[in-house]
Amino acid sequence: MDWLTNSPEELDAYLVHEMAHVAQNYAWWRTPPHWTEGLADYATYKLGYTNAWRCAQCSAMYPHYTSGYSCAAAFLFFVEADYNAQIAAQLNQKLRRGKYSDAFFKDATGIELRELWKAFQKTPAFTSSAADILKMEESLGYVNGKPTAKTKSGAAQKIAQARSYAIIEQQPGGAVIVSAYQFLKSLRDNDQLPLAAEQVSPGAAGLDLVYRRGGTAWVRALSKGGRRISDGRTMLVAQGAAAFERFFPGVHAPVEVMRAAVERALRA
Ligand SMILES: [Zn+2]
Repeated sequence: MDWLTNSPEELDAYLVHEMAHVAQNYAWWRTPPHWTEGLADYATYKLGYTNAWRCAQCSAMYPHYTSGYSCAAAFLFFVEADYNAQIAAQLNQKLRRGKYSDAFFKDATGIELRELWKAFQKTPAFTSSAADILKMEESLGYVNGKPTAKTKSGAAQKIAQARSYAIIEQQPGGAVIVSAYQFLKSLRDNDQLPLAAEQVSPGAAGLDLVYRRGGTAWVRALSKGGRRISDGRTMLVAQGAAAFERFFPGVHAPVEVMRAAVERALRA
């Protein structure tokens, strides 16, 4: 509810979506949830007078018709426009009677569901971020948006991260935030140099704001040329000392003791 309070313009879309569920009244245990959610979104887009929703499309969040929601809705609009104008009503009937199988699409259009899905992927409603996520899912052993026996551990986290990048990227200024984040993350994970050591003049002094056991790659690279360089523990001790003197006014921070503790902890 907090979310709706902050996004009141989306209230009507949610209302239509949920009212569609009331009308559906499907037996949930024999109904593929992606069609239940896809038809509820289809109804929302079809009515078309909600404030905030644009065209139905697949996205990083919902990249496949089996993800339901706006992607399944976009797929139904495609089939409706090109193959069978009654597709949504007929699908709804099948689901209500509990008689749905994927063969429904072949019966209704003369074309197999997987062929329809292939044709749909050439339309603009199948966005590039949906395509990127699906490609990634496939490379990690997913089929139709779902993990399989071939899926390696950690795949779900990788996909979730790519998905959140894609979502942030679509916000104003989001692309800059994502590339800055990825740059910082690669500095951290790979201990990369921010620039080649040869580009730093021999007389220069350097300070790396991070620290790690055995020193950072940046410190090792710069100290080779005899430059004055220190890693983040210098700043860590200075910050600790400043905090100490604020808590204990008039007492000098035992900087040497603090530094020794940091060195011991990092076993430098
Ligand atoms: Zn729903």
